[in-house]
Amino acid sequence: MDFSTSELTQQVSLSAREFALQQIKPNLMEWDESQEFPVHIFKELGKLGMMGVLVPEKYGGSGLGYFEYSAIIQEISKVCGSVGLSLAAHNSLCTGHILAFGNEDQKQKYLPKLATAEFIGAWGLTEPNTGSDAGNMKTTAVKEGDYWMLNGTKSWITHGKSGDVAVVICRTGEPRSKNNSTAFIVERGHPGFSAGKKENKLGMRASETAEMIFDNCKIPDANRLGEVGSGFKQAMKILDGGRISIAALSLGIAKGAYEASLAYSKERQQFDQPISNFQGIAFKLADMATKIEAAELLINMACDLKIKGLPMTKESAIAKYYASEISVEVSTDAVQIFGGYGYTKDFPVEKFYRDSKLCTIGEGTSEIQKLVIAREVLK
Ligand SMILES: Cc1cc2nc3c(=O)[nH]c(=O)nc-3n(C[C@H](O)[C@H](O)[C@H](O)COP(=O)(O)OP(=O)(O)OC[C@H]3O[C@@H](n4cnc5c(N)ncnc54)[C@H](O)[C@@H]3O)c2cc1C
Repeated sequence: MDFSTSELTQQVSLSAREFALQQIKPNLMEWDESQEFPVHIFKELGKLGMMGVLVPEKYGGSGLGYFEYSAIIQEISKVCGSVGLSLAAHNSLCTGHILAFGNEDQKQKYLPKLATAEFIGAWGLTEPNTGSDAGNMKTTAVKEGDYWMLNGTKSWITHGKSGDVAVVICRTGEPRSKNNSTAFIVERGHPGFSAGKKENKLGMRASETAEMIFDNCKIPDANRLGEVGSGFKQAMKILDGGRISIAALSLGIAKGAYEASLAYSKERQQFDQPISNFQGIAFKLADMATKIEAAELLINMACDLKIKGLPMTKESAIAKYYASEISVEVSTDAVQIFGGYGYTKDFPVEKFYRDSKLCTIGEGTSEIQKLVIAREVLK
């Protein structure tokens, strides 16, 4: 495996970094405080090709690979985890699902709009009572002639309110039976489809999280994604790739927290010297740097397998599990290095600390990653 950063990856990194510093950094605390989902930022990211990173050029996307995708998510998340999370959900989940499992008509209809951010995408698997146990979903789709009638509630959906188009996985067979779910494309404004409660969150506050409610929502069969009964399997495949983006999000947050701490430790004087002179602080920085480099290697390994089309369920789960856990550890150490100042909103580390926690929960908790890894190693 050659993990030297290509010129292309360096270029997209630079452009994402410049965008994050110029367009996101000045406003991120305002969005965080008010829980504003900054739709206009995603429209701008669309102009830069960052809302359709993996979408082939023939569908209006950037046609880039997973190394570039990971680099973009990291650079944005080094500045703001919320924008990083929304970017990851839009690219990997909704857009990624239509790209992987849509037919030609569906791809031509939706991918160009998603890739340019004319449409913001959402993806609904989780329900109020079925998170880790998503296969036990209660939302149903019942076939009536050429239509499907959708009923139920999806919860915790990124862009559940502002999403223009959503991929929704519904139960189409008997509860707990095999191959009992199917994925559908639903557009905002469709009769019977509405947004419910918007969550008031600890972190990732500028990334919108809301319920999607289906009440006798009549969807044409043309909006079905793939075979009837293949929805859950499709979702698991999408999460394999999605986990790389949550690992990249985690790593970006960790890098942001580490870089801020490194700089601060050289500036902050106590006992007439920079606090970086104290071994207790220097060792923290050493641990942070080690964890970040290890997470980066794991993510690169998963990216490498993904672009080669090789199995990567275990590797993406390992990358997501490790990167998300160290993201929390690194941002916790960052607050400690900043001392009392780290506990205020005048410095960036309290936000990294709050945002990082989502990474051990979203797209499968750390416990679920361990189940996936254990299943693979025990095969
Ligand atoms: C900000 C945010 C954005 C999200 N965006 C989306 C989205 O866009 N689309 C979407 O579909 N979902 C989304 N989710 C939902 C997310 O994927 C779920 O929250 C997650 O899968 C966990 O489900 P849960 O919250 O119901 O927790 P639960 O499944 O209830 O888990 C509770 C605890 O029990 C543990 N646990 C559960 N089962 C086991 C087991 N078998 N063994 C060991 N421990 C176990 C869990 O690890 C966890 O610690 C989002 C969530 C958040 C917070």
